[in-house]
Amino acid sequence: MTTITAPSIGATVLGYPRIGRDRELKRALEAYWAGRADHHHLLDVGAQVRQESWKTLREAGLTSIPIATFSHYDQVLDTSVLLGVVPDRFPAPTSDDAERRLQHYFAMARGTDTAQPLEMTKWFDTNYHYLVPEIGPDTTFTLDPTAPLADLTAAGSNGTRPVIVGPWTYLACAKTSAGAPEGFEPLDRLEDLLTTYVELLTTLHGAGAEWVQLDEPALVRDLSPAQAERVAQAYARVSDATQRPAVLVATYFGHPREALAGLAASNIDGIALDLTRGGVTADEVAALPGIAEKALVLGAVDGRNVWRTDLRGALTRLEQWRGVGREIAVSTSCSLLHVPYDVSTETALDPALRSILAFADQKLAEVVALQRALDGGVAASEPAFAEADAALANRSTIPGFVHPDSAGRLAAVSPQDRSRGDREDRAVAQRQRLQLPPLPTTTIGSFPQTSRVRQLRADHRAGRITTRAYTEQLREEVRAVVDLQEDIGLDVLVHGEPERNDMVQYFAEQLQGYAASQHGWVQSYGSRCVRPPILFGDVHRPAPMTVAWTTFAQSLTQRPMKGMLTGPVTMLAWSFVRDDQPRSTTADQVALALRDEVADLEAAGIAIIQVDEPALRETLPLREAEQQTYLNWAVGSFRLATSGVREDTQIHTHLCYSEFGEIIDSIDALGADVTSIEAARSGMELLADVGERGFRGALGPGVYDIHSPRVPATAEIEQLLRAALASLPAEQLWVNPDCGLKTRSYEEVLASLRNLTTAARQLRTTAKG
Ligand code: GLN
Ligand code: ZN
Repeated sequence: MTTITAPSIGATVLGYPRIGRDRELKRALEAYWAGRADHHHLLDVGAQVRQESWKTLREAGLTSIPIATFSHYDQVLDTSVLLGVVPDRFPAPTSDDAERRLQHYFAMARGTDTAQPLEMTKWFDTNYHYLVPEIGPDTTFTLDPTAPLADLTAAGSNGTRPVIVGPWTYLACAKTSAGAPEGFEPLDRLEDLLTTYVELLTTLHGAGAEWVQLDEPALVRDLSPAQAERVAQAYARVSDATQRPAVLVATYFGHPREALAGLAASNIDGIALDLTRGGVTADEVAALPGIAEKALVLGAVDGRNVWRTDLRGALTRLEQWRGVGREIAVSTSCSLLHVPYDVSTETALDPALRSILAFADQKLAEVVALQRALDGGVAASEPAFAEADAALANRSTIPGFVHPDSAGRLAAVSPQDRSRGDREDRAVAQRQRLQLPPLPTTTIGSFPQTSRVRQLRADHRAGRITTRAYTEQLREEVRAVVDLQEDIGLDVLVHGEPERNDMVQYFAEQLQGYAASQHGWVQSYGSRCVRPPILFGDVHRPAPMTVAWTTFAQSLTQRPMKGMLTGPVTMLAWSFVRDDQPRSTTADQVALALRDEVADLEAAGIAIIQVDEPALRETLPLREAEQQTYLNWAVGSFRLATSGVREDTQIHTHLCYSEFGEIIDSIDALGADVTSIEAARSGMELLADVGERGFRGALGPGVYDIHSPRVPATAEIEQLLRAALASLPAEQLWVNPDCGLKTRSYEEVLASLRNLTTAARQLRTTAKG
């Protein structure tokens, strides 16, 4: 048994944004990729971003600073590099210079002419995407500690701690590499991988590290008793290493229920717990053998949302933990990667609204105020506490916080408002009205967003062109997209969404109860940043949002034009959402606004309305026990938005992922007449489930992978459709791409859609003959 005298941690955070206050890393990355700047420039910018963040964290008064949280693309990819987990299709660089290393790194992130990039997927239930490690039985683990060692040298080891993705989470987030035998799982390699982690700890210790943080959010998912035992053994082994820094295991996004006892019993030195989600209590933790020797890092400040912390309430909760561990360190619940830098730059926001917001920098101050109050009594932080009290007390005075109709309208919602007539009757009525051929063809909504279109939107926003000129130019764009679709021979058309920068922001800007930040950028993946709108009050639709565009597009063609809306769950998932009422209530408010829009589209003669819910799966709770409740209200909100229509109005929905099986019953329960999903890459495998489970609606499994520049051949599309017909009758099958076309070029889209309509036509004739 080793005893490490770990220095105290004190006020800290689990991580900090890294894209740069002015998104300087984004610009440097894009300049480097485009060949406009060399690797020296990129490395310099990265070094500056790091130095500045350490300075900010120190000056804010934190006593332990997370380092090695910077990344040129993604921290999970960085962990793959650290552990030497590189698929064979990315041969190691022939020399070890910085430029080659970067090229190799970006090849994995972005692909090359000959190698597909690593797959990208969402990090737990956040909107951040990581690059999925590929692990097989023969994967070798080889330590390459260059990055954390460089940060230790640059930041110093005093009062800092390198942050590394922990072994359980790393493998739990990995996928099985191609060619591995049936039944193999990446977690089968845990014991092998631990050898490399122990080596890493020894190396960090040799470089003077006092602490290391191992991030283990995967421990807040359901673990079987056998898995919990493996976690316990893994950390017993890690903490029994003789030469190592103190180890902090950071859990977040929930309660690490099954893993806690094992962590407490091991010789690790600290555990971070998320006090904002999952409901972990001081009493249950205090009862765990071994906990008295652990530093407890308590995430009392929400790292994922933008609301100011009720400091007095948080302090009361923290007080309950006094004496439970060796030390109580105050922290954010998770890395601040998920929030923007600084709300004080948001000068266009209403001051009352701004005063109840806290971005990363404000959260640093909250953590420090709480730690001081906990250690020195509340007088030590009284000004900060008083300011928080005053701001939060004024919440209801924020303009637009309350809409007078909201409460009454919600209270009046009845079960009938969430239900439509019989599916079969609807199908008959719609068939009569729409007169579509079998295997109807359509697209998901957006057409390529050319630089011309983006420029027009930017010019309009900046006031460089009048609304009238803008509308005229965009109408031209719509006309071109409609002509093109008629020419290709698609059956159900779209207007192409040129007026939308983003499918959530577009609606948020038109709804009351939503505010937009000016600089609130958050990294989504790589250099890609999003600026999530802030849903702070009662949502209300003052005027129609899409009717003018859709009816204009419909006026140009005899074929049905789809109206295109974003569903309530997605409107919440990609926003910062008020935390003073249940999400289900907020979702229903959004649903009512959408219901009005749906009604207006129907009244204007639109026969098909698509309500996209690409985020339905993504915000599924991490714990199985909570999933059904979520699915129930999510489905209920969608139905509230879409059930106000006549039987002969066809409702479509679109979902953006292929892990369909898990929630298939809920997707059916949405009650959409037609559902389009991603399927091209998985070769229709998912349809076997659909057939078996008796999915009742019509389905459009994507036959064109829009994540790739490849043009699918007619024969390939036909083959996919034939595979689909093996599980689904022809009357239930639609033909469409995997997702919207906005990121693709016209050249690819034209060729692909022509092949798509040709394949559908050929199948129709063979089916008949
Ligand atoms: N209608 C949207 C589009 O085509 C859907 C986007 C999405 O599913 N993420 O762009
Ligand atoms: Zn999609």
